[in-house]
This record gives sequence, C-alpha cells and structure tokens, in this order.
Amino acid sequence: MESVYESQSSQAAEVNHDEKLRNVGEGEFGCSHYRRRCKIRAPCCDEIFDCRHCHNEAKNSVEVDVQKRHDIPRREIKRVICSLCSTEQDVQQYCTNCGVCMAKYFCAKCKFFDDDESKSQFHCDGCGICRTGGEENFFHCNKCGCCYSNWCKGFHRCIEKAMHHDCPVCFEYLFDSTKDISVLHCGHTLHLDCLKEMESHFQFSCPVCSKSICDMSKLWEKLDQEVAATPMPEAYQNKMADQGAVFFTLFKESKAVRQMWTW
Ligand SMILES: [Zn+2]
Ligand SMILES: [Zn+2]
Ligand SMILES: [Zn+2]
Ligand SMILES: [Zn+2]
Ligand SMILES: [Zn+2]
Ligand SMILES: [Zn+2]
Ligand SMILES: [Zn+2]
Ligand SMILES: [Zn+2]
Repeated sequence: MESVYESQSSQAAEVNHDEKLRNVGEGEFGCSHYRRRCKIRAPCCDEIFDCRHCHNEAKNSVEVDVQKRHDIPRREIKRVICSLCSTEQDVQQYCTNCGVCMAKYFCAKCKFFDDDESKSQFHCDGCGICRTGGEENFFHCNKCGCCYSNWCKGFHRCIEKAMHHDCPVCFEYLFDSTKDISVLHCGHTLHLDCLKEMESHFQFSCPVCSKSICDMSKLWEKLDQEVAATPMPEAYQNKMADQGAVFFTLFKESKAVRQMWTW
C-alpha cells in the first residue's frame, strides 16, 4: 500500500514540476508584435527574427536594395530557436531541450506562436489562417471565403472572395490584414480606418461601386452611444440596413462586433 501512495505522489510532483518548467519566462520574451518564447529562422534569407512582422519590416525597409526586398513565406518556416536555451529545432510548441512552452497559443498549420491568449486566437480551416476575436464570435462564409462576425449572420451580402483583394483606399491586402475591416452595405470591404479617413473628407460613397454609404459621422456618433450594448439591439441593426448604410462596421471597444481578426 505504502509504495503505491509513494509512486502516486512522486508522479504528481513530476507533473507540477513539468508545469512549472513549461511556464518559465511566460510573457517575458518576444517583440513589439507578439509575446513568445522563441525566434524564427526565416527560410528565405536564413536569418533569425522575432516574428514574421519583424522580418518583413526589416527586409522591406528603405535601406534594403529594392531588388532584395521580400516578405517571409510564413508557411515555409521550419526552424525555431528557443529563447530560454537557444536550441534551434523544428517548429513545435515545447522546446525539445529545456521543455519550456514556447507559446501558449500555437498553430502548427500557420507556424504561429503567441503567449498572449487574451486575443482569443483560433485557426479557421476555411480561411487557412489564424484569426483573433474568439472562434465563437465568427462564422466562415464559403462564398466570401472569409470569416465574419456572427453579428451579421443572415444579412451579410455575399461577394465572391470578398476579402481577397486590396483595400481600395490604401491598397493593403485585406484578407490577412491585422487592422479592423469594415463591410459596406454593398458588400465591399475596406479598412475601418480608411473608411473613417474617407468620411473625414466627406466621401460617402463606396470607392468600388460608388453606392452611397450615407453620412457616417452621425452613424459613428450613434454607435458610440450604443457601443456599450453588445450585440447591437436588433432594431438598430434593421435601421442601419434600411438606410443602405454601412450595416455593420466594427467599432472600437465593441468586442463582439470586431471584425478583424488576424495575427
Ligand atoms: Zn527573408
Ligand atoms: Zn515582431
Ligand atoms: Zn529551450
Ligand atoms: Zn493557424
Ligand atoms: Zn474563415
Ligand atoms: Zn458571404
Ligand atoms: Zn486601407
Ligand atoms: Zn461597393
């Protein structure tokens, strides 16, 4: 009897020990983009960076010869370097040498690491990338080829590959943009900030199809007042749709209606 208890308690101690080990350095490593306990080896230039954004910023800066500028092919990342013991190894969540968890959120498909789980990351197979904002708050539309906030389920206007194009204002590719995206009533999409920029210049029509998007400033004002109530009251949703306005734009502070979502 005694020996059974003994082995059980030593097993428990081991688990606790492992757990402690895994959590070492949590939140203490990373860059301005992500908290993570590993660095990545870029397959393109064979150099080491904190994250793909760090790579892309460094390799597309004005100091770099135009011919040599490039983005990292993120899916091709194969090797990571543990920040605690500096061991280089294949992409995985736990260091093969010291056993530390290199990030609480880990996606093997995207080769993505992030210690900050407050973003509620999730991998969408339809999109083929990781998004943020909580899986339960989004649905994937196969026709549009992207995820939308549940908030517009049932009344979003399908546009083939809705997000698979550049923002018509700033020309950044929208699908994997890390900024908030707005979906206009016509179904066209652009950055929330770019939409606000248009509004500040009194441009109230969709830059793609020229359909009216009405006076946004009043809308923002109302939304600011309503923002505490999430999801938006139903009457409100209808009202906006009736106006032919931007029927869901994803505003500041209002988590449930935040649209973008990508890392
Ligand atoms: Zn590179
Ligand atoms: Zn970075
Ligand atoms: Zn290690
Ligand atoms: Zn993923
Ligand atoms: Zn999706
Ligand atoms: Zn759709
Ligand atoms: Zn834009
Ligand atoms: Zn449009």
